[in-house]
Amino acid sequence: MTHETRMILRLSAFAAWPAFVALGLLAATGAWPQRPFLDAFAAPFEYATLALLGLSFALALHACFRLYGWSHGRGLLCQRCGCLLGRERPGKWGRSDYRRCLGCSSNTSKRDYAFME
Ligand SMILES: [Zn+2]
Repeated sequence: MTHETRMILRLSAFAAWPAFVALGLLAATGAWPQRPFLDAFAAPFEYATLALLGLSFALALHACFRLYGWSHGRGLLCQRCGCLLGRERPGKWGRSDYRRCLGCSSNTSKRDYAFME
């Protein structure tokens, strides 16, 4: 598996988790027996399912924009493999903040990507 494949899988997995939760909600509500007191909870679960599917679509769209930018050389890129960097994490024990590469999982210090922002 190449670094680019791992980066695309990580971006896709982050966008897919709300859809999996929505499918779980659909399966749970479909498995409910027909009882009047459970029907009162059906509408909130339907709204939650729609909201989760919308969130998944928005995250997938954001991932597509990030990958499009990456294919054109834009964005915060890893200096080792050239893949996109993930979210900024706080540094531990007084060290500077850092981002983890989505491809090779190496940490990049803020001083190494601050000039790209
Ligand atoms: Zn990397």
